[in-house]
Amino acid sequence: MKNGKSKLVLVTGGAGFLGSHLCDALLSEGAHVVAVDNFLTGRKQNLRHLEREPRFDLIDSDIIRPLPARLRSKRTKFDQIFNLACAASPPHYQADPEHTMLTSVVGTHNLLTFAEATGARFFLASTSEIYGDPEVHPQTESYWGNVNPTGPRACYDEGKRAAETLTFDFERSGRAEVRVARIFNTYGPRMRADDGRVVSNVICQALAGDDITVYGDGSQTRSFCYVSDLIDGFMRLMAYDGVLPGPVNLGNPVELTVGDLANRVLSMTGSSSRIVRRPLPVDDPRRRRPDITRARQLLGWNPATPLESGLKATIAWFSEEQKSESKFTRTPAALDGAIPLS
Ligand code: UDP
Repeated sequence: MKNGKSKLVLVTGGAGFLGSHLCDALLSEGAHVVAVDNFLTGRKQNLRHLEREPRFDLIDSDIIRPLPARLRSKRTKFDQIFNLACAASPPHYQADPEHTMLTSVVGTHNLLTFAEATGARFFLASTSEIYGDPEVHPQTESYWGNVNPTGPRACYDEGKRAAETLTFDFERSGRAEVRVARIFNTYGPRMRADDGRVVSNVICQALAGDDITVYGDGSQTRSFCYVSDLIDGFMRLMAYDGVLPGPVNLGNPVELTVGDLANRVLSMTGSSSRIVRRPLPVDDPRRRRPDITRARQLLGWNPATPLESGLKATIAWFSEEQKSESKFTRTPAALDGAIPLS
């Protein structure tokens, strides 16, 4: 597998939105990449362009089960493991909450144990969701969060919190070298049309001329990072060789309301869609914005893509998708009701 020169890298969740972009970035840096995905939310089409790539392998496996034996062969030494495997959009991670929790806890434990055995540096894709509905704004890494441990988002939020705990315990006891990114809302090409998140929903609805669903009064805020900026942050954090930095927020600090986002997409697409209100999902955070001082100082990282150009590229991508085939088998509106509503 390893050609002696290039790094050997494992990417779990490699067929997902972020995972597939990460595979591309690693390959363009000369790595040999093994992607693992259970295809619950990841899609083969995200990796179709790599079908003939000799430095790329794709394995159908779920990280809550033991890793396939061919990966665990003593002769195969991985340099890096990126753990991105987990459904990440509320309707998807709430569809099977038990599996979501096990993916973060059992799956991360499996991969940490593997990192220890193979000697790889381990990267955990954690999340801004670990801050819950934050009482500190913007969110710094030192903030411990405000999470409802028994609500419908807990399977994801608490799962990722436990994954962070395991990861730092492995580091503390010298069993693995780790990097932890807390990812804030990210958007871009290869999001699923039925992802259920606000950027994909609003764009798909606007392009189809359907009603645009704004949950609550639309005054809740988020800060949206374009995917290529985020992946650049992943690569820098994994490559960082200094003293363990603790968790690192990665996101774009430009904050706007959901209502404002909907209006921007409406005007950019020239759509005649109406904005309609839907009930606010249970435990929906009221506001979210990363403090990225740590990433700036440690990694020299700064998101470079303005919202306008990121949205433009994402709208163009969804528009092409819509034209190329009827991939919109489920319109985003069909997900209404998948989220427990207050
Ligand atoms: N949202 C919305 N309309 C949608 C989908 C989501 O108004 O069609 C809202 C959602 O309630 C939340 C915000 O947009 O306040 C961001 O939701 P998303 O699911 O994208 O991400 P997360 O809640 O995980 O930050």
